[in-house]
Amino acid sequence: MKKVALIALAVSLAACKSQQPKTVETADVMDYANSITSEELKEHLYIFASDEFEGRDTGEPGQKMAAEYLKKEYKALGIPSPLGGDDYFQEVPGSYFTRGTVKDTENVVAFIEGSTLPDEILVISSHYDHVGIDDQGRIYNGADDDGSGTVAILEIAEAFKKAKEDGVGPKRSILFLNVTGEEKGLVGSKYYSENPIFPLAQTVANLNIDMIGRIGEGMEDAGDYVYLIGSDKLSTDLHELSEMVNNKYLNMNLDYTFNDENDPNRFYYRSDHYNFAKHDIPIIFYFNGVHEDYHKHTDTPDKIEYDLLEKRAKLVFLTAWEVANRAERPFVDKPTLTEEQ
Ligand SMILES: [Zn+2]
Repeated sequence: MKKVALIALAVSLAACKSQQPKTVETADVMDYANSITSEELKEHLYIFASDEFEGRDTGEPGQKMAAEYLKKEYKALGIPSPLGGDDYFQEVPGSYFTRGTVKDTENVVAFIEGSTLPDEILVISSHYDHVGIDDQGRIYNGADDDGSGTVAILEIAEAFKKAKEDGVGPKRSILFLNVTGEEKGLVGSKYYSENPIFPLAQTVANLNIDMIGRIGEGMEDAGDYVYLIGSDKLSTDLHELSEMVNNKYLNMNLDYTFNDENDPNRFYYRSDHYNFAKHDIPIIFYFNGVHEDYHKHTDTPDKIEYDLLEKRAKLVFLTAWEVANRAERPFVDKPTLTEEQ
């Protein structure tokens, strides 16, 4: 009798526990991080960096195909555009470009609205354009630059969407920003920063990914590494958050070599995040460093380290989760760094 009562109690307690609604605080973030897989990244990248996309030169047919691919994927995931309806493209007019003649082009945008702080926006960005075809007819597939960052964003978007479907969507809103014209001088991100869809003052941070699929020069023995650039330049808070997330979940080797102000490469000023940083928005730039196929027709999807790409994409997702969900937005405590002319 007593035993039966105890069993009944145990059963009812178990039922009670399973009925408690999941919250962002009680959810296991790794359930969502683990939806980012090397297999899916590879599947996307073999299409996105295929010859069919003709090197995704800004304004050219290959770039338009790439834009349509991203739109199709966001729609399939059920992630809407912040522009409303079926329009996932922020038009960037050819006349906006100052280097050479460029046709009209577009940034691709998708949006997950925050549950409790919807007016605060985290931007996760990568450029999806590349340099096209050379005069010998060779296609520059740009698998690493920046197909890797672009397919990572698709997987990160999917992970946040799954969380939202489970009732644990991000508290702040997330804008997935696939920018065009990077190879023409960071033009798509500059256009966004001058024509923002959401006010820059409400944009809490930018996580920018440009090349995370390869092992860079001299890093053969660095294990699961990624270069982080800019994390502490405006916000000590964002830097500490990023370190905490890595220590808690992944323990990757975060390398700050290129974060040094005296580093001659000056990467902080050389990808799309700079168009946010110059407006005092804290950024982190994720990068694998250059390698022998950088800006060559040999930057192809067969050379990508898919397991490493998966880990790096997870790091960006987990960092984004923390930025989107914690009580306060990253606090800016340092002055703007302006590029010397
Ligand atoms: Zn790039």
